[in-house]
Amino acid sequence: MAGYKMDDITIVGGGPAGCFLGENLAEKGFEVTILEEDPEIGQPMCCAGIVGTERLKEIGLNSENWCLTKLRKGVFHSPSGDLIELTRDQTEAHVIDRAKFDRSLAEKAVRAGAKIRLGSKCQRISRQENGVSLKVKTPGGTENFESRMAVGADGTNSLVARNFGLLENFSPTVCAQAEIAGEIENHDANVYLGNDLSQTFFGWVVPAGGVYRVGVGDKKANPFRRLIKLMGRASLLPKKPGKKIVNFSTGLIPERKGRKISGDRVMLVGDAAGHVKPLTGGGLYLGLSCAKIAGEIATKALEDEPSEENLEGYEDAVHEKFGQEFRLGNQARKMLEEMSDDDLSEFLDLLNLPEIRELVLEHAAFDRHSELFKALIREGPSLIRRVGARNLMKYMNWFVDI
Ligand SMILES: Cc1cc2nc3c(=O)[nH]c(=O)nc-3n(C[C@H](O)[C@H](O)[C@H](O)COP(=O)(O)OP(=O)(O)OC[C@H]3O[C@@H](n4cnc5c(N)ncnc54)[C@H](O)[C@@H]3O)c2cc1C
Repeated sequence: MAGYKMDDITIVGGGPAGCFLGENLAEKGFEVTILEEDPEIGQPMCCAGIVGTERLKEIGLNSENWCLTKLRKGVFHSPSGDLIELTRDQTEAHVIDRAKFDRSLAEKAVRAGAKIRLGSKCQRISRQENGVSLKVKTPGGTENFESRMAVGADGTNSLVARNFGLLENFSPTVCAQAEIAGEIENHDANVYLGNDLSQTFFGWVVPAGGVYRVGVGDKKANPFRRLIKLMGRASLLPKKPGKKIVNFSTGLIPERKGRKISGDRVMLVGDAAGHVKPLTGGGLYLGLSCAKIAGEIATKALEDEPSEENLEGYEDAVHEKFGQEFRLGNQARKMLEEMSDDDLSEFLDLLNLPEIRELVLEHAAFDRHSELFKALIREGPSLIRRVGARNLMKYMNWFVDI
């Protein structure tokens, strides 16, 4: 063992949530160290990289800066093979360069005064009398870090959450994604549904600059075979002339259920806290927005003691801002997981009806699904009765009392 550091805060994980929070706290004058196990920020990356154009601005980020492709149209591929297209008048979302995005958040954290230690993997973290102690494997050996509190920004399978007993059950969506280079002919976000592809999630094909990001996730089945199936369905098998896999990655999408997000001298942010949209797993806006809340709570707590009591306002503050988003999103995800192929196809067919299409286009927002869910709860039953899709009524009842 060598070395000894004492900071206000040690953040484990140099992904977007950790760096964003690190910048926020360093700006306020706290001593912040961010530990990142990989030798480089932003690599490896497993993310489709789609963010709504509006919401990131709310937290001071402009996705235009990292934009590879602008999206205006979403195409849903139903299990029965039908295509349902939804087109906006203006750009709804950007597909971003995730590595560049992550690097720029890390640079901002460093400019604000945070220290980033690359190649530094936290192996164990424990509560000490006046703070926390971390055992860290670094390029030079093993070092001990101590700080007044710690933040777990270390992703879905968070070591910090596990060491502090904040992660009760672990049932992530396992994803596989390939980037396929070739001529980009399709400029839309494509979503593929069907139980043969995924029983609990979906597949996607999105253009990202000069490549297609093709991916699939599932809680139940191995996603690799499904990825090959999706490439076939999307006519993107690399054996086709001009198509070449240039990147392949795997990743986990967390569930919020079963995670406590703070404890004595510890908080969790981003995927470690389960702060993703439950229906689609998108976590960039939600994770960063909640990390901003974490920064406000931590600031107040550090002025006194970062005790369990002083940090527990974090859960309430997240709940106040995003409680409905999580509750309605969880029900929508459950609906996706339970639907048979026939129900999925019937549900997607509804989107071809002018009155439903109008409702969706009016209320759907890429990074805030709850507005659309609320409109569907309000208007859905009478629309469903009118078009005679009675089979779908049972799902509407799931949303009653939420
Ligand atoms: C296939 C897939 C597609 C996705 N597509 C989208 C999308 O289109 N839009 C969207 O908004 N979101 C998407 N997401 C979600 C998004 O990628 C995450 O929400 C986001 O990366 C969360 O950021 P984070 O900082 O919390 O965690 P991460 O990005 O996972 O960063 C965690 C960091 O912690 C480091 N780390 C882990 N353990 C340790 C340790 N013990 N010591 C030191 N460092 C450690 C890791 O190396 C990593 O750098 C997708 C996710 C997946 C899996």
